[in-house]
Amino acid sequence: MTRPVIIGGGLAGGAAAARLAVLGQRPLLLEREAAAHDKICGEFLSVEAAAHLAALGFDIGRLGGAPIANVRLHAGRRSASAGLPFVATGLSRRSLDWALLDHAETLGAEVRRDTVVRQISDGAAIIADGAISGTLLLATGKHELRGQGRDPAGTISNLIGFKQFFRATPALRATLAGTVAITAFDGGYAGLQCVEGGRLNLCLLVERDRFRALGGTWPALFAALVREPGLALLGDAEALLAKPLTISAVPYGYLAQPRGDDPVYRLGDQAAVIPSFCGDGMAMALHGGRLAADMLAAGASAPVFQARLRGDVSAQVRLATRLQRVSTSTLGRFALIAGLGAAPAALAALAKWTRVAPEAVARAVAVA
Ligand SMILES: Cc1cc2nc3c(=O)[nH]c(=O)nc-3n(C[C@H](O)[C@H](O)[C@H](O)COP(=O)(O)OP(=O)(O)OC[C@H]3O[C@@H](n4cnc5c(N)ncnc54)[C@H](O)[C@@H]3O)c2cc1C
Repeated sequence: MTRPVIIGGGLAGGAAAARLAVLGQRPLLLEREAAAHDKICGEFLSVEAAAHLAALGFDIGRLGGAPIANVRLHAGRRSASAGLPFVATGLSRRSLDWALLDHAETLGAEVRRDTVVRQISDGAAIIADGAISGTLLLATGKHELRGQGRDPAGTISNLIGFKQFFRATPALRATLAGTVAITAFDGGYAGLQCVEGGRLNLCLLVERDRFRALGGTWPALFAALVREPGLALLGDAEALLAKPLTISAVPYGYLAQPRGDDPVYRLGDQAAVIPSFCGDGMAMALHGGRLAADMLAAGASAPVFQARLRGDVSAQVRLATRLQRVSTSTLGRFALIAGLGAAPAALAALAKWTRVAPEAVARAVAVA
């Protein structure tokens, strides 16, 4: 078998590299960034994600994340709360992703940072100073590689994402202790939670038209957000990034189709994109990374792997995408809050149904 070459060192690529190294496959991982960096993400690490990391021998405890056991939904003055059916962790991607790459290196993977792959050509990854041949695993996440773009047909791709860190004031710390607060507002929704280091992560998605109508700038959007009761306390908090991170045109609901002639293993957001509010994108990325490593090492072709991964995640992605459409409509978000307020158990059930099925996680963990 040719050497596995992983393009992209996020959680999908890092998981694949760590697992392939353990399996003795001498993986090479190419990551474009030279140093640890912030990523746009709500940084809600689910229990399934933690289980995948533990199975890779990676202990998230040493990174000092914030435990999260409750979810609170806000829409205008209405709110509904429930205990999550698990304890999640608020943990920054700056810490997590880089530490996973270090871990993969310790296990024997070769990790080349500061290395941009420009495109794939004739089974090779093309970089500035040449071509690297091998069995290719595409894990560039939200970034498209030339010639490998995901088809946005049928997806929700009209949202703009923002992320900013804030220093937690005593009032915010008390309100958010152990809780992820999701605020649905006109044209979008925002998640607010603690991460390590006494910081708060505000991550949100807003429809492009709504953003324009509000003035098309972050200060104008933020001024509208702090008028929402669920986010009002942020008005006094100190922002920690010079400007928020942004992203647009994420194809929510995308599922890669297995193609008989495609030799590339597609992982993470290159395989499936689940709406952000579910907080399960990281678990899916880790799941796909581990599964690809195990199946590749066992001799499964890329299309066989792709079909299996799609089977593991498609029901969750489709349900979450339908819910996302509902939650951004005015009627939908109030109906959702009213329904969930009347039956908090439904909130826990929704949290469960939008995650990678425990059987699939267990199967991947068992293979390890
Ligand atoms: C607004 C928002 C909020 C979210 N919130 C959550 C959440 O709270 N919880 C959760 O579980 N999920 C969340 N997600 C989803 C989650 O962030 C993704 O599903 C996850 O990051 C996918 O991991 P990945 O490894 O596929 O990609 P990424 O994390 O995007 O990593 C891709 C890597 O590839 C590298 N790369 C890109 N192009 C190249 C290239 N040409 N050459 C070399 N390297 C390259 C990048 O530098 C990067 O390190 C959110 C997503 C968004 C957009």
